[in-house]
Amino acid sequence: MTTGMTVLIEFLYLAASALFILSLRWMSSPKSARHGVWAGEIGMALAIAGTLLHRTPEGGALHYQYILIGLAAGCIIGVPLGRVAMTAVPQRTALSHAFGAFCVTAVGIAHYYSQVGEHIGKFEMGVLCAEVILGSLTFTGSLMAAGKLQEVLPQRPITYRGANLVNLSLLAASVAVAIYLILNPGQTSLFPVIVAVPLVFGILMIIPIGGADMPTVISLLNSYAGLSAAAMGFVLNSKLLIIAGALDGSSGFILSVIMSKAMNRSFTNVLFGAFGQVQASAAPGGEARTARSATPEEAAGILGAASKVVIVPGYGMAVAQAQHKVRELYDSLTRRGVDVKFGIHPVAGRMPGHMNVLLAEADIPYDRLLDLEDINADLPQTDVALIIGANDVTNPAARDDKTSPIYGMPILDVDKARTVMVIKRSMSPGFAGIDNPLYYLDHTLMLFGDAKAFVGDIVRELGHGAH
Ligand code: NDP
Repeated sequence: MTTGMTVLIEFLYLAASALFILSLRWMSSPKSARHGVWAGEIGMALAIAGTLLHRTPEGGALHYQYILIGLAAGCIIGVPLGRVAMTAVPQRTALSHAFGAFCVTAVGIAHYYSQVGEHIGKFEMGVLCAEVILGSLTFTGSLMAAGKLQEVLPQRPITYRGANLVNLSLLAASVAVAIYLILNPGQTSLFPVIVAVPLVFGILMIIPIGGADMPTVISLLNSYAGLSAAAMGFVLNSKLLIIAGALDGSSGFILSVIMSKAMNRSFTNVLFGAFGQVQASAAPGGEARTARSATPEEAAGILGAASKVVIVPGYGMAVAQAQHKVRELYDSLTRRGVDVKFGIHPVAGRMPGHMNVLLAEADIPYDRLLDLEDINADLPQTDVALIIGANDVTNPAARDDKTSPIYGMPILDVDKARTVMVIKRSMSPGFAGIDNPLYYLDHTLMLFGDAKAFVGDIVRELGHGAH
């Protein structure tokens, strides 16, 4: 390859790496998130362009016909995958990790068998083993996670006696064989072991984890996929892959830590705790409790008379696609001089940033969106807390009831507002499957109905009241 071409490829890779870093930086704020997406896409296009300029080891052109077939297959699968509903993004992301991990594993296997006749150094064999082990377990683990979230597999944790011991033994066996292979790279008959055993480990690692923990697990698998890609970068001597893989690995890990913290769970508890069983929603002690309900007209009357309102959106707003009606409600109340803010819980919805994305889609000003700590300071001085399709993130049991399975999870203190109104269709529990004592408080009103329809009715009533 000519020096000019090598310089061009290195330049494209450098630009791609810089864009990946900027992309992550920009995606950390809703204001700049769109730029972040563009930077990531342009970075990936430059990386692909640089790769296509490579020559074969013999110095010939790449076999573009095979690349075109791969590109066409990727587009045929990728385009419909990009069109899933927002609520299905976690399982879609898990599938992407599975594809990436499959690709990393396949490249690792091809590299080993194409190089095995030659001398493979200890470092190269070490990173190759890391690549294949992480890639294989991420492949099956991500497929299991996607299956659980799509509910084609049971969401409940499937546990058996000694499960953790079996899992750790499988992992230890893979690492032991990997060490042997590093010392004896020519032992080709053992190589399939470090592919097959982690494939089984990936399945067994995920089945004892409940559906409620899957989004956290997915971001951990994201981290593994990134680390395996970084290992592949060392194997293939690609700085771009090392940088992109390390960014992916560390950001996935940081996200898992943030999510675990927001649910007050430790990593070990997520991975080994078998949390997430759906529990009976009966009231503790079985005593009969009553909840009061109200009509859209009554709700509009209370909201219209308030001076401070906090809206708390949750998963139900996403399901109902109510964000544009919520924007109309925001406009209608703001026009009346009501101070309206939004309380955003870090794990409201089904993926990190879920509520921010939906509210941004409806053009709700970013400065009206407040984090947990900030809005909790405001709630005791708030006239109305209006909860739209949120449940677990407002459950006072997480704060007050030591026996609750979600005890310790930080919540939005909506019960401290003067009036609480909850839009949801029934008294059914949320994702954690537990009852919410908030609904039985004296100052709580249940607004039963679909979020989009009910918010629309309130907006209409407010409009009537204004004329
Ligand atoms: P929840 O799942 O707790 O509650 C959502 C509520 O929305 C349900 O109780 C449901 O009640 C209601 N709902 C569903 N459809 C509609 C509709 N069309 N109209 C009105 N209401 C509707 O959601 P939260 O957002 O409060 O909490 C998120 C949960 O997900 C937490 O348990 C969190 O730990 C978990 N989780 C979230 C992650 C994330 O990254 N965001 C990651 C991991 C876990 P009904 O059926 O009566 O209508």
